[in-house]
Amino acid sequence: MNASKRGLLMNKLADLIDRDRKYLAELETLDNGKPVRNAYLGDCQGIINVLRYYAGWADKIHGKTIPIDGAFMCYTRHEPVGVCGQIIPWNYPMAMAGWKFGPALACGNTIVMKPAEQTPLSVLYICSLIIEAGFPPGVVNVVPGYGPTAGAAVARHPDIDKVAFTGSTEVGKIIMAAAGETNLKKVTLELGGKSPHIIFDDADIDEAVKNAHEGLFANHGQNCCAGSRVYVQDTVYDEFVAKSAALAEKRVVGDPFTNVQQGPQIDQEQFNKIMGLIESGKEQGATLKCGGKRFGTQGFFVEPTVFADVKDDMRIAREEIFGPVMQILKFSTIDEVIERANDTQYGLAAGVHTKDMKRALHVSNHIRAGSVWINTYDYVTAQTPFGGYKMSGIGRELGPYALEHYTEVKTVTVALDSKAA
Ligand code: NAD
Repeated sequence: MNASKRGLLMNKLADLIDRDRKYLAELETLDNGKPVRNAYLGDCQGIINVLRYYAGWADKIHGKTIPIDGAFMCYTRHEPVGVCGQIIPWNYPMAMAGWKFGPALACGNTIVMKPAEQTPLSVLYICSLIIEAGFPPGVVNVVPGYGPTAGAAVARHPDIDKVAFTGSTEVGKIIMAAAGETNLKKVTLELGGKSPHIIFDDADIDEAVKNAHEGLFANHGQNCCAGSRVYVQDTVYDEFVAKSAALAEKRVVGDPFTNVQQGPQIDQEQFNKIMGLIESGKEQGATLKCGGKRFGTQGFFVEPTVFADVKDDMRIAREEIFGPVMQILKFSTIDEVIERANDTQYGLAAGVHTKDMKRALHVSNHIRAGSVWINTYDYVTAQTPFGGYKMSGIGRELGPYALEHYTEVKTVTVALDSKAA
């Protein structure tokens, strides 16, 4: 098909998702438990934005002519990789599908996607919209199932040319090993994080408290780039802790189909993991400022929780909690906080709050993470690359950078009778 037609189909799909977004948002909330307002404004808008962004790229992906030595003409072609396996998690099911569909389709690939077993519904419904939009049969295939069976089959299949995975670092290693043991399919990984959020004493404290709060509690803390290690300079530490705890206490938890900020965690397994980490925080001597318990008597609701006096070696400061649990740590100097912020196996994201832009840029330059936000947090757009250093991943999604992972570059060299001028 013409590349421009691919772009039209992708825009059509975005239109259909927009048409049905109320239904899709409700489906997402039913499956995932996030507030329906967030599903509508965040997740639905997320996939629409990404599809439209990459629809625009569809007919703008091309090679170069290269002036090589000798009597030759040389050019490159950017060809589709082929069949792309895509395995996604449950925290932002629709948005994650969009991040994967967008660049793959723009570059002319076909897709075999495995959604998370907890949240297959929205992507399955989107399959019906893909048919309605008029995509040729076989271009997008969605295979729901469990990780060790359906997911492993995607990672190991000899006829799949690439696998793009978003999920835990633990499973990311399994995916990479599976590719290595089978056909060496290309691998991109978006994995976990334990992101530092650094607050200097000259920052607008109320703004920093608000951004750190949303940066951690958004999506019930089930966010790969959650700012879960909040480093606060000693001179404003007590004020910051008091204001953060007060804000967390006000967070409205409850039925996600009503006007709340936080619904239940995704499942029993995650609930147990979060409660276990909260217990470890108490046992290892962190000060519980608020929350720390189950919310209510049924369902997987967790009280928004804030720990102060957290030390770098505590489990709550090292392990990804993936729940509404904020760790606040104290620091004195810029060199100290950079070293401590980097002392992690992860490198997905970081935040810095200060009015001193030289200081902000110095910290940003020395943090080993794929995204750094200055005086804001978790601002992710279709146009900007996203991905991890270290054990937070391989490759980048979004923006033009993602396109590189969905094309093969072919160099074509043609002998001529004489050298062209
Ligand atoms: P997970 O790794 O358990 O599962 C993710 C996906 O992998 C699911 O579809 C699952 O079925 C599949 N899977 C599980 N075992 C598999 C196997 N052996 N072979 C193939 N596939 C398998 O992760 P999760 O608990 O669903 O999601 C939370 C994790 O995802 C967190 O660590 C979070 O940080 C990460 N995440 C990262 C990003 C990012 O962009 N970096 C975005 C969202 C979530």
